[in-house]
Amino acid sequence: MATPQIIFFPVGNGDMTLIKLSNGQTILIDINIRAPGEGVRDVLKDLREKLSEDEEGRPYVDVMVLSHPDQDHCRGLVEHFHLGSLFDYPVKGEASKIVIREMWSSPLVYRRASKTHTLSDDAKAWNTEAKRRVQLFKDEGALEDGDRIQIMGEDADGKTDDVMEIVIKAGERITNVAGKSYENFSALLLAPRNAESDEDAEELTKNESSVIINYSIGTGATPDAVKFLSAGDAEVYIWDKKLWSRYKNQPEALEYDLLSTPHHCSWHTLSYDSWSGKGEEAKVCENARKALSQTRAGAYIVASSNKIVDDKNDPPCIRAEREYKSIAKDADGTFLNTAIHPCEKNPEPMTFEVHGGGVKPAWKTRSAAAATSAAAAIGTQPLSHGSE
Ligand SMILES: [Zn+2]
Repeated sequence: MATPQIIFFPVGNGDMTLIKLSNGQTILIDINIRAPGEGVRDVLKDLREKLSEDEEGRPYVDVMVLSHPDQDHCRGLVEHFHLGSLFDYPVKGEASKIVIREMWSSPLVYRRASKTHTLSDDAKAWNTEAKRRVQLFKDEGALEDGDRIQIMGEDADGKTDDVMEIVIKAGERITNVAGKSYENFSALLLAPRNAESDEDAEELTKNESSVIINYSIGTGATPDAVKFLSAGDAEVYIWDKKLWSRYKNQPEALEYDLLSTPHHCSWHTLSYDSWSGKGEEAKVCENARKALSQTRAGAYIVASSNKIVDDKNDPPCIRAEREYKSIAKDADGTFLNTAIHPCEKNPEPMTFEVHGGGVKPAWKTRSAAAATSAAAAIGTQPLSHGSE
């Protein structure tokens, strides 16, 4: 059994995270694959190094989740991933496109996003592929790798009623990863939720509705060793009115060891006021903050964003960083930013490992191991270096 990992790729203001489970399965959350060059790391290369190939030599992820269809969450899909039936996988040429064995997709989030913006070609292609898979399920009643899909959240107006077998409702647990279930993985789907009124629907549309999942990733005999809360770009209304209202008496649903700050450390996740307009006068929404403060001891909070600086830009926002730092401090935890890890000049993927005792940054366990072996090496040296 491998040590499970959670890897954040440095993709600027965007998201791209890979979970590797102890049984070797992989879950990719969002992608923002830009052309590498000055200041842009080759994250496609990083990703591919982490992926296995199937018996046909095709690289694959077991699952890809799309939190919502903004371009900074699906950039590079058409160019680098195989869409369509595996029977049409090219034998030569583009033969190394990544296969998505199973999609986790939300038609509800799509519908809301398409009301506020024009969808990119990558976003449209994801939706077309999701529809192909759902249709195949309707026709055949079962799906194989490369055709699998699980739908995140019931769609509005009964649109998913005839495929409920592949729908996970908000508040339910996901226990299957590409057709396999085992004790060291489950995930709680927290959003999207159906609107309760017209006003609610309008707010959900404006607040960057996203798939929000709290992953429980285990190892050995500890099934929920690490809880990782991943929330796309969900903004303040969702944390305040949909999640805290619902879970304030059951806050363990929101509890985490690792949090990816929603919307690239945006102020709009924590406040109804604008940062550029009100600055320090802007008020924190206490309920949203509570929803995002359910830390377990030693929690890590990661901003997947550009470097956070003291200016009017948002995201990322320096005052949001301050709030998250204070949340982390109260848990003896740590706040990190993908853009400056390990240094601003050359950001690298940020890897966490899952151990029985919780989450550990791989760069620390690695340097501790190196120090131990260096010490051991010194210990075997003859003691003759003192008199030069
Ligand atoms: Zn985004």
